[in-house]
Amino acid sequence: MNKAVYPGSFDPVTYGHLDIIERAAAVFDEVNVAVVVNPSKNPLFSLSERVELIRMCTQHLPNVTVSQFEGLLVNYVERQGARVIIKGLRAISDFEYEFQMALMNRKQNPRIETLFMMTSGKYSYLSSSLVKEVLRLGGCVRDLVPPIVEKRMRRSLGLPSEDSEA
Ligand code: ADP
Repeated sequence: MNKAVYPGSFDPVTYGHLDIIERAAAVFDEVNVAVVVNPSKNPLFSLSERVELIRMCTQHLPNVTVSQFEGLLVNYVERQGARVIIKGLRAISDFEYEFQMALMNRKQNPRIETLFMMTSGKYSYLSSSLVKEVLRLGGCVRDLVPPIVEKRMRRSLGLPSEDSEA
């Protein structure tokens, strides 16, 4: 079976992530979205909330599974019975870090390949941290995250729900 792991912090999942997940799910038999246990940033959502949100947003994709992982990524990928790590690339600025990570992961385990998927143009500027900042400052994130994600973000940030703003 051709299985890939798509790792990240997903704090929270955005339409940019979901675009990569959908496209990867069309190419691989199974895509495991792996939520990293300890993101370096101070997360808005707990690990279980991040996992739950991705599950809700990928319900329509039967070959997508969602889990959490801790420790070395290549070890997790091997335990999953996968050979491929999927990474999304937005801009040149992503490249240097991802290049370094891909080479280090190959050094750690040469059997695992990292494959990069280019973002869809309309999501090339989109990141979880920017979405959080925009919402905090009162901006509109409707085209950037699914409605359930916006709702949970508003709750976590202590912002009024959209309905009560009208
Ligand atoms: P971020 O917090 O920067 O959004 P994550 O760690 O959650 O990043 O991202 C997980 C993976 O998804 C990474 O490979 C990242 O490059 C990719 N990614 C994030 N946003 C996008 C996007 N808008 N388009 C394509 N790939 C993306």
